[in-house]
Amino acid sequence: MGAAVAPSFANLFVHKLEQELFLNHRYKNHIQLYLRYMDDILVVWKGDITLFNEMVNEANESHPTVKFTTEISKRTLNFLDVSLTMENGSIITNLYRKATDRNSLLNCSSFHSRKCITGIPKGQFLRARRIASDDAKYWEAAEGLINRFCTKGYSRCTLHKTAAEVGRIPRTSLLQGSKAANKNNRTPFVSLYHHKSDQVEKVIKRFWPILQGDKQLQKFCIDPPLFCYRKGRTIRDHLCTAEPKKETRQTVLFQGLEKKGTFPCLGCVCCSSVIRGESICHPMKGNKIKLKHYATCLTAGVVYLLKCPCGKVYVGQTIRPVKERIKEHKSDIRNYNTNTPTDTSVSRHFFSNKHNQSQLKWLVLEVVTKPQRGGDIKKLLLQREAVWIKRLNSMVPIGLNEYWSIAPFL
Ligand SMILES: [Zn+2]
Ligand SMILES: [Zn+2]
Repeated sequence: MGAAVAPSFANLFVHKLEQELFLNHRYKNHIQLYLRYMDDILVVWKGDITLFNEMVNEANESHPTVKFTTEISKRTLNFLDVSLTMENGSIITNLYRKATDRNSLLNCSSFHSRKCITGIPKGQFLRARRIASDDAKYWEAAEGLINRFCTKGYSRCTLHKTAAEVGRIPRTSLLQGSKAANKNNRTPFVSLYHHKSDQVEKVIKRFWPILQGDKQLQKFCIDPPLFCYRKGRTIRDHLCTAEPKKETRQTVLFQGLEKKGTFPCLGCVCCSSVIRGESICHPMKGNKIKLKHYATCLTAGVVYLLKCPCGKVYVGQTIRPVKERIKEHKSDIRNYNTNTPTDTSVSRHFFSNKHNQSQLKWLVLEVVTKPQRGGDIKKLLLQREAVWIKRLNSMVPIGLNEYWSIAPFL
């Protein structure tokens, strides 16, 4: 679950599964309530529990990799950060925290905006207020939170005040969600957080009326600005850089500017078919795309581009020296035979259009280097290949790529 699209993809995937396996199952009428967060599901079941187990067993058999594990209780159950208890026919909820959870609340002395430090307890009390089904349960949860905040240096007195303030808000109004909060016209003022940020805020607020009086700017300055902060570099960022800086080689200095593009190695059969130049033209749109790397026939771990005489392109990747892969493409074209390993999208196109293997041109689009702190180079190559396929629009029928998958990004 590293990539940004992974949660959305997981959501879509589970949504499809749940529709098929549970919500349209023959026992669906036993489901009184069905709630899901990503891959955690809460089901309130009415009827024979053996039927529920039957439904889950069927679900587990119908998919090769996905397995559902269950926790069943007639009285009390924990789901995400909520504990649910049956009492007199209704469900009572309260804040739930795993016994093994560490106290990960932000330390009060941390270098954050004061608003952020005071906002965190309030946010936590609001969460408790929403989850706890009555006042007594809210105060029970709030006391727990107060103790945890106190160990992180917050003032007990202020915490009690905030907890009481939140306690006075009716729970029903919190559960309705706040649509009103999004309505304001406040322009966000985003800057890097700095120890003088509070003073900057004061200065801006003091001179705000000048902007409000300005004819051109007044329409943007109706409400006071909303101050937001980006995190600056922490001591940790300074001490442990994610990627150690590469040492620039002395030779580069003598050769002048580093060259970009693909160059013949002057010693192989692929040299003559290299497409030279620092940039390529987009095969559809015609705009120039600058190449960022220097490569030769011998460069390994690359995403490459093949071009046929009629202008169609194919994007591929290889972990080996690129000339090896180009040679394979040429040999497939030479020895083309339907429904054998030589039958690839490229060789098939060359065959059916009567192109010759010597007309195959190629270049390196990108040199993919293994991250210094480790990483899966093969996966990275597949990711970059997929990016270039999309970028150059090289899927059939426009180009020659037959497959594209989101899989390398998950
Ligand atoms: Zn060469
Ligand atoms: Zn062609």
